[in-house]
Amino acid sequence: MYAAPDRMHKPDNELVDLVFGYMRERLQYDPVPLDHPGDGAHLREALAGLLNDHGNNPADVLKLYDHELSRAVISADSPRYLSFIPCAPTKAALLFDMVVSCASLQGISWLEAAGAIAAENQVLRLIADRAGLPASAGGTFVSGGSAGNLSALVVARDTARRRLGVGPEARLRIAVADQVHSSVKNTFNIIGVEPLLVPAVDRRLTGPALRAALAADPHPETVIAVVGTAGTTNEGIIDDLAGIAEVARDHDLWFHVDGAYGGAGLFAPSIRDRYAGIEHADSFVVDPHKWLFAPFDCAALLYREPRLARAVHTQDASYLDVLHTEGDEWNPTDYAYHLTRRARGLPLWFSLAVHGVQAYTDAIEAGLRLARDTARLIRDTEHLELLHDPQLSAVCFRRKGWTHDDYYRWSRRLLADQIGFVTPTGWDGETVARFAFLHPGTTMETVEEILATMA
Ligand SMILES: *Cc1c(COP(=O)(O)O)cnc(C)c1O
Repeated sequence: MYAAPDRMHKPDNELVDLVFGYMRERLQYDPVPLDHPGDGAHLREALAGLLNDHGNNPADVLKLYDHELSRAVISADSPRYLSFIPCAPTKAALLFDMVVSCASLQGISWLEAAGAIAAENQVLRLIADRAGLPASAGGTFVSGGSAGNLSALVVARDTARRRLGVGPEARLRIAVADQVHSSVKNTFNIIGVEPLLVPAVDRRLTGPALRAALAADPHPETVIAVVGTAGTTNEGIIDDLAGIAEVARDHDLWFHVDGAYGGAGLFAPSIRDRYAGIEHADSFVVDPHKWLFAPFDCAALLYREPRLARAVHTQDASYLDVLHTEGDEWNPTDYAYHLTRRARGLPLWFSLAVHGVQAYTDAIEAGLRLARDTARLIRDTEHLELLHDPQLSAVCFRRKGWTHDDYYRWSRRLLADQIGFVTPTGWDGETVARFAFLHPGTTMETVEEILATMA
């Protein structure tokens, strides 16, 4: 005799109360504690024997998660998390993420999920409007900037192959500056294109430098696209998008803009002019899980001419034919290399609908202001040295006299003391310190507290 095979699928109010109770508590942390790096041996011991045949008491498993596992995760949504690019979801977005999970909301095809897709597309439209993309623009939400860059550049490659009448044997190249994100370099390896490395001017890719690189190149006809970065991850520097767009037009290049981190600045009036030229992009990526306060994992991928993406990414399988017989209804799965996808744009949609766009503008501007105030304080501090005027919310700086090891020791101690998570970074081969601001709850007092530890 088998026990009822659907016993895991029955409503279980006790379990609901247990997990909702935990979530309620987690949502009320104010501030969210940073927590700590993990110890492999300790974690393995805590987990030993857990996945057995008969299961465990849910309260015990949740307690194990709360007391052991969650404490060994540095909280990206802590206002003291100032490394890499933090993640600071709004409460509304976090809560709606649970709804997406609870309802098993997918967003593959119009046939299956029209309601979810209509809402996701409303958000994509808002972003496209901010970028100045035409009414024809559209796309989908993917898991991150890396997936977005890959999906877009495959379309660039295959569109060029068709235009040039060449096959996979032809050597194709994409112009980039050295500061381009590592995921773009990875993409080149995956899709078999080579970089045309354009020397940066003041750490930016500029139109004139791109034009000169093409003029000096013996085979400019093999260059089929250019990637501009709207906010480098390390320094928050925005390329000369208008200049790049002009050269792209003259040379028939696909113009991709990687705004995974900085694209959110389109919503910030104080810096909007730095994005001039983005309206000419053939494809554009921005990560709402970075600076648009959505939970992981959420990237918006937009194409100027979505039909070009559809021609490349639509999967051909007899069991999918039913999806593609309904004329122009929107199938998000056709705009990236995925098939099954979570309706991951909905948490952002809900939060935008609840709070309004101005609340986003205010929160983004707060990060920009904090970066400017921090830069000023660093400039005014004798033993510190600012490495660049912040354009976005990243600030790189030097502690005069410190070695590589000094930065690493300092960073570890800051985390151990739960004062901040601030990891060192590289600047022209030198180890330096860097803040990435994003959480609107990060205060100047926290910055001062951290800088005081460098005295
Ligand atoms: C973060 C980032 C990426 C990668 O995005 P993921 O969401 O981590 O995949 C790509 N480009 C830039 C400029 C980024 O900042």
